[in-house]
Amino acid sequence: MNKQLILDQVTVQYDAIAAVSNASFSLAEGEIGCLLGPSGCGKTTLLRAIAGFESLASGNISLHGDFISTPKRTQAPEDRAVGMVFQDFALFPHLNVRDNIGFGLSKLSAGEKTQRILEMLELVGLVSVAERFPHELSGGQQQRVALARALAPSPQILLLDEPFSNLDAELRTQLAAEIRTLLKKNKVTALLVTHDQDEAFAMADKIALLNAGKIVQIDTPYKLYHKPGSLFAADFIGKGTVINVGIDAAGLLGNNLGSLSINALPEDLGNTVKLLVRPDDIAYDETSDTTLAIVSKSFLGPNYLYELALKDGQRVPCLTHSHIDIPVGNELPVRFDLRHVVIFNPD
Ligand code: ATP
Repeated sequence: MNKQLILDQVTVQYDAIAAVSNASFSLAEGEIGCLLGPSGCGKTTLLRAIAGFESLASGNISLHGDFISTPKRTQAPEDRAVGMVFQDFALFPHLNVRDNIGFGLSKLSAGEKTQRILEMLELVGLVSVAERFPHELSGGQQQRVALARALAPSPQILLLDEPFSNLDAELRTQLAAEIRTLLKKNKVTALLVTHDQDEAFAMADKIALLNAGKIVQIDTPYKLYHKPGSLFAADFIGKGTVINVGIDAAGLLGNNLGSLSINALPEDLGNTVKLLVRPDDIAYDETSDTTLAIVSKSFLGPNYLYELALKDGQRVPCLTHSHIDIPVGNELPVRFDLRHVVIFNPD
């Protein structure tokens, strides 16, 4: 598959300070990527560099085979075939939906423009509100207008900067999944910036996880969740706790946790490991002799998320059906399912 976007060793500096260092990342045509990471890690800076709002200190960016940014030359934002959807949607308040969508289509003839606007209105399901103004629309509808406006000039890549953060939680993941379907159907290459992993998981084929200006892992949502390559990734992605556990040569763990298959263990392991324990690695089992004290619990509707204490005091999570309703302070009978735990060397 052809590469639509390539970032090669990109460094962006504000004054002498690098906000992003040596970032390399690529997207194939039609692929949806995501830049994910905590506040201040450099996501927006990278997106702005791709859009042409920041110049590069080193490295280069190419789009559809053309270099659009090098340290010597930054092609102007309006000259790159890039569509943007901003956090606050940035719709023109004095233009109705139709004219907002048609704003970037000045190169088309009047007939072509009308046709393209209609296609976009149909694409995002807003034909019936075409004459309304932005303040007469719901947040979700405004977001679709922003999307239609960005897609109308057929950009080579669509950039989305925290596009769901102004919407309520329920709408967010629903819209993320809907927009993914729409982009996939139309083979749009897109890059999303978010600090919300649920949005990243719902939208992206591939996620670049950033920490302190560096890309620390590029993977599918599944791999990032199940095979985090670092303690940072393990901690940032998903719910779970990293615990320290003693281990012997046969793979037997301390704290009565059971055994790990020694074939799965790194060779240079000492006699302690760090284990990433996800809530689904510990199962409620009323027939089990192993019980752990309940420290706290939160009701999630279909589930309870229990916080349990191991014998040495370290805390681990356990997800049960919400019909398993045992008071804090009591013991929960559990079974450890260690097939999927992630093992880190303590160093
Ligand atoms: P958030 O999720 O909070 O938006 P982010 O991951 O998008 O964060 P950036 O906005 O890219 O992070 O910022 C990366 C770093 O660059 C931060 O340390 C920030 O303070 C710094 N920075 C961002 N913009 C500027 C600027 N115009 N001048 C100087 N420093 C900046």
